[in-house]
Amino acid sequence: MLNSKQSVVITGANRGIGLGLCSLYLHYGWQVIATHRQGAISDALQELNKQYSSDLTLVELDVCDEQSIQHFAAKVCEEWSHISVLINNAGVSIDSKFGEWNQATFLNNFNANMVGPALVIQALSGLFEHNTKVIQISTGLASLQENIGADEPFDAYAVSKISLNLLTKRLANKAQTKSAIYCAISPGWVNTDMGGPEAPTSVAEVAQQISLTIESLTLEQSGSFLDSTGATIPW
Ligand code: NDP
Repeated sequence: MLNSKQSVVITGANRGIGLGLCSLYLHYGWQVIATHRQGAISDALQELNKQYSSDLTLVELDVCDEQSIQHFAAKVCEEWSHISVLINNAGVSIDSKFGEWNQATFLNNFNANMVGPALVIQALSGLFEHNTKVIQISTGLASLQENIGADEPFDAYAVSKISLNLLTKRLANKAQTKSAIYCAISPGWVNTDMGGPEAPTSVAEVAQQISLTIESLTLEQSGSFLDSTGATIPW
């Protein structure tokens, strides 16, 4: 059971793992700011908004748009004076095979998966307290020791998430930012639009694991790369 009446910001909460985390934290009585992109909000997120109207605030955010990040941060600052947990979950996995690589493949992955989280953290950092937890949803594909086999897919995605991991480590060590706890967490292979229907893990299961791992994080673990259960993943 998580402590209630804490506050969490979750990016990319319209569907998938972000939606699952949003639902779980609301269930535990947390105050949640959940982000969605401009336009349609999913039925599932709207349903949560009806059910938990006093605990859930929906805010628009496109992590690839600097102006959107500024508007989003201003809105969060209007709502809250501090953040217990920030989960940078929004992400894309755009793949193209060697021979078909182009700038867009790399830049679109980088923009959403690394640049976006970096700017979101910077924009919200005024609300961080000692021991605020900043979680970067990463991937096992970003491990230099694992998943570097001959035919591993998602080159551009993997290198964007490796950058995210390095950013996490640097934030954990930077004098200006290091009172918060920064951690990269791989959810594993999860049944979402991104993971596909054959993925062995459900959103509900991974959301539960990730929330417990976040709950148990300490300052000493800042800068670490963990799986959803809290086990260390080699860099
Ligand atoms: P989904 O594709 O199911 O959902 C992605 C979410 O991110 C959507 O809500 C989407 O919004 C949002 N999003 C995408 N781009 C942006 C953007 N530019 N600005 C704001 N929001 C955006 O993915 P998952 O739930 O599976 O993935 C969540 C995280 O987990 C990602 O970071 C992913 O890399 C990571 N991950 C997932 C794995 C898996 O097996 N599923 C494996 C390893 C890591 P919208 O609904 O508007 O499109």
